[in-house]
Amino acid sequence: MPELPEVETVRRGLAPAMEGADFTKVEVRDRRLRWPLAKDFEKRLTGKTVEGLGRRAKYLLADLSSGDVLVMHLGMSGSFRVSHDGSEGRIAKYHHEKSKTPAHDHVVFHMSNGATVTFNDPRRFGSMKLVPRAKLEQEPLLRSLGPEPLGNEFDAAMLAQACAGKKTSLKAALSDQRVVAGLGNIYVCEALFRARLSPKRRASTIADRTAKPNARAVALVDAIKAVLHDAIKAGGSSLRDHRRADGSLGDFQHNFLAYDREGQPCPACKGTIKRIVQTGRSTFYCPSCQK
Ligand SMILES: [Zn+2]
Repeated sequence: MPELPEVETVRRGLAPAMEGADFTKVEVRDRRLRWPLAKDFEKRLTGKTVEGLGRRAKYLLADLSSGDVLVMHLGMSGSFRVSHDGSEGRIAKYHHEKSKTPAHDHVVFHMSNGATVTFNDPRRFGSMKLVPRAKLEQEPLLRSLGPEPLGNEFDAAMLAQACAGKKTSLKAALSDQRVVAGLGNIYVCEALFRARLSPKRRASTIADRTAKPNARAVALVDAIKAVLHDAIKAGGSSLRDHRRADGSLGDFQHNFLAYDREGQPCPACKGTIKRIVQTGRSTFYCPSCQK
């Protein structure tokens, strides 16, 4: 499942192909994504201009001139690719992936600037939905999401408030999209490692009795922001066949300090990275320096 840095990397890859352009033609080859595409999906897009391409947590949000927002999610295996003027052209060398069979090209956007944007999704857990902009805040997919971790409003005070009184582990709390949006297993592990905090620590211990943040909350927020910035800079990780919108691989996986490094030496001390299972997912951490 792509996490926030991967989705942000996709957004940056798609923006030049979509922003400011009109949909000249929308081809839906299979409506059966996570939810069936609306019957009027093509009609509501065709001829409309993409005024901006934004992101909320792991959702891409294309603001349209009609007042609709096209809300898109990659699901488990979704990816976009961009080509220009119908030819494989300039970025063609990235496109010849055997795994991206045309049978899984479910939606194709033909843009007025000559770009073709193709959504491929073998497992069809991805989704596309048109929501009127005025109703976006009530949209069930988005309304329960916590703060954007890279937004200015996300700080130690906010995280401490959300974790105060929580008996769950820090790992579980940070994986909860209502506490902070867009983090998944990889970046939760990496942020906890950078903050030197044990994933097993009770979430409430980053706040005092009045729900004010302590030094742990400050370190944790700094670590979350830093790891996301670093991952976006590196183009997202490339786990599980994730590709950037131009088809090239992200390379943040080479920078993992704890994630997927069971049995390897801790980069910060003489300890060894350990794997445990929390709420059904693998957690990687260093028991020596994460307390
Ligand atoms: Zn260590």
